[in-house]
Amino acid sequence: RTYLDHAATTALSPVAEEAWLKAVRQLQSMPGNPSALHAGGRAASRMVEDAREEIADAIGAERAEVVFTSGATEANALGVIGAARHTGRPAVLISQVEHDSVAKLADAAPDLQWRHIPVDSEGVSIVPSSLGDDVALASMSLVCAETGVIQPVERLVAASGDTLVHTDAAQAIGHLPVSFSALGVDLLTLGGHKIGAPVGTGALIVRRGVEIDSDRPGGGQERKRRSGTVDAAGAVALAAALTATVRELDVVIERHQALKDRLVAGLPPEVHVTSQAPSSPGMVHLSLPTSSPEVLLMAFDQAGVMVSAGSACHAGVTRPSEILLNMGRDTAGALGVLRVSFGADTDASDIDAFLEALPGALAAAQRMDKHFKE
Ligand code: PLP
Repeated sequence: RTYLDHAATTALSPVAEEAWLKAVRQLQSMPGNPSALHAGGRAASRMVEDAREEIADAIGAERAEVVFTSGATEANALGVIGAARHTGRPAVLISQVEHDSVAKLADAAPDLQWRHIPVDSEGVSIVPSSLGDDVALASMSLVCAETGVIQPVERLVAASGDTLVHTDAAQAIGHLPVSFSALGVDLLTLGGHKIGAPVGTGALIVRRGVEIDSDRPGGGQERKRRSGTVDAAGAVALAAALTATVRELDVVIERHQALKDRLVAGLPPEVHVTSQAPSSPGMVHLSLPTSSPEVLLMAFDQAGVMVSAGSACHAGVTRPSEILLNMGRDTAGALGVLRVSFGADTDASDIDAFLEALPGALAAAQRMDKHFKE
């Protein structure tokens, strides 16, 4: 089978698996809540703090700036709402290319005024020259989870004045160099299972001096920023995966770019790359002449090729992509899309399997389009 849906999730990487199992076994032989004062607690706490340091080094942050969470979704909610609320200002600005874990935050915080940063037809956010005195925080992904287009976060930082800036880097880490300090953002989200760490791991990086209101009552772990027992083994595995990702980055970028070029060169004339803007080397977003993405995906699946229509994070429901609609596509144009994404083990044979399955899958989807028209 050919797995080309790494932007949805990746397998556990060998280094993360090894680090995770070692930590789990250590916790089995001597259990301990990292907050406990006894020997078991101190050993677990050491694991968490070593992992925190490793993550800080890998992402260009300070140790105290790393807040462990259960993944990118939680980090986004905690970072955006928690930091915005603490400022006391009323408005939040979010880009129109956000993953639902940011795009839908308005439903969770109706006390804040939610405004949008628009996007152009190539999928690049259009940063306003100034953000407004009433804006607490602006949030923009580093790489759009659907199109793979790199977003102008540096420009947002330059325009931000004293507005806080948050970036969701879940789709950027492992595909582009990412440094928290060099970017100059105030908050950054990272997710574990996109880089070979276990599902349920992630972190929010919070710049020293930036306060966030915790979103839940509890034990006040993570310096009162995020209550809940820290997953010590998960933290260890996240650190191992992130370090490996950073170490291998140059090689991975070159390899993925070559795979991307191979894929694009092999496309039939009726299938287009959606955007010409600079994008993640690990992702190719395609536009196809069909309005039946489910049939397309099923036909690929039957041919042994796993890909995604837009973002796979929508609990299996295929609806016109909000992001593509925001880019000015009509409903049909926002339906006929495919996201192909690469991981550590992707090679040329995967690309060839995709290209081989493509004409048949598209024909099957178009038969369904015709059936609906009749
Ligand atoms: N943010 C982005 C950009 C994503 O692609 C995803 C993917 O699911 C998430 C957030 C959610 O991540 P998690 O599953 O770790 O909560």
